[in-house]
Amino acid sequence: MHYSQIINELAEDREQYFNAVSPPIVQTSNFAFNDFASLRSAFEDEMSDYLYTRGMNPTVDILRKKLAAIDEAEDALVLNSGASAIFCAVMSNVQAGDHIISVQKPYTWAWKLFDNVLTRYNVSTTYIDGTRIEHFEAALQPNTKVIYLESPNSLTFELQDIEAVAKLAKSRGIITIIDNSYCTPIFQKPHRLGIDLCLQSATKYIGGHSDTVAGVLTGSKAMIKQIFDREAHNTGAFVSPFNAWLLLRGLRTLPIRLKQSAESTQKVLSFLKNHPKIEKVYFPLDPDFPQYELAKKQMTGASGLITVAIKAESHAQIERFTFDLKHFLLAVSWGGHESLVLPKCAGLHPDGFDPHEQEHRLIRFYIGLEEADFLIEDLAQALDKL
Ligand SMILES: *Cc1c(COP(=O)(O)O)cnc(C)c1O
Repeated sequence: MHYSQIINELAEDREQYFNAVSPPIVQTSNFAFNDFASLRSAFEDEMSDYLYTRGMNPTVDILRKKLAAIDEAEDALVLNSGASAIFCAVMSNVQAGDHIISVQKPYTWAWKLFDNVLTRYNVSTTYIDGTRIEHFEAALQPNTKVIYLESPNSLTFELQDIEAVAKLAKSRGIITIIDNSYCTPIFQKPHRLGIDLCLQSATKYIGGHSDTVAGVLTGSKAMIKQIFDREAHNTGAFVSPFNAWLLLRGLRTLPIRLKQSAESTQKVLSFLKNHPKIEKVYFPLDPDFPQYELAKKQMTGASGLITVAIKAESHAQIERFTFDLKHFLLAVSWGGHESLVLPKCAGLHPDGFDPHEQEHRLIRFYIGLEEADFLIEDLAQALDKL
């Protein structure tokens, strides 16, 4: 199906709501029934009916069907954060005594789930450098139940060979989960490569306007139904009708925003690569990136994050540079309309800063929807002052 059809038409039943072009926000907690038989059938399968909004809701349902189709998955759930998508996906596939293999340095709330929550239930996790398939093979244990991927990650963009990992996992009956927030399903289709559960933070590109926190989880009908009935319901993790409506609105422009962001990002990248005060750039679709060939094979585009190692001598110098930038906000997250800057050393006490450590001099830029020249001029003047 064309994106245009998914985004503009799929699941939009306008005759149900006065032929309104924009679907209504069905802001209700509850749904009423005309007879016992229909109430009973809603009890039996809450996913195919509207019973109570901590379950299925018509506004959420429209979004859910579109997101499943974009991801080429049988089904999807829309949750109230990317972190809850991680929680639900992992929790539904492990039990006491199981083992997880995860890429090293996964998203914060993934490793905190593995290290702070699951350890209390006797579920252990091995972190590996996921750039080589041999590392997955070496970490396998008889009780390995889940392989957790994030490709690329959102700071230095290490990739995993998704198809190879999925094949290895399938041969051992292991469930694969991937965090696809960086690429979104527009630039990477993990289900095509054999991944079981695919999640993303919808806060980032699906929302796209820095006004909503949400998550998406896609997979087979059976796996999604199990999560709907257990983990998602027990944590009450579903997105609200209003936030689903904001995400529907964001989704209308997802492909066009990504196209714009990718174009500006290329221009900013060329500028940064050639700047004398930049020691190194990290970007998965840059020909100098160590996994460039793999990136080209499994991604059809890269999003608006660029990380650089800057030539700076002190913590204070990097802090000053951050505020010499007039059009980049100092903030976490990304995927919105506005450009952002996030130095790695912002989370480090100034006394711990070591200029010999390249990692301490990493700065992540997120390129929003501003014109490339506008951003490049800003970067140029701030780098000149450094
Ligand atoms: C932001 C983010 C998440 C978490 O999503 P929230 O919507 O903030 O809960 C997960 N993974 C990655 C890679 C992210 O950037």
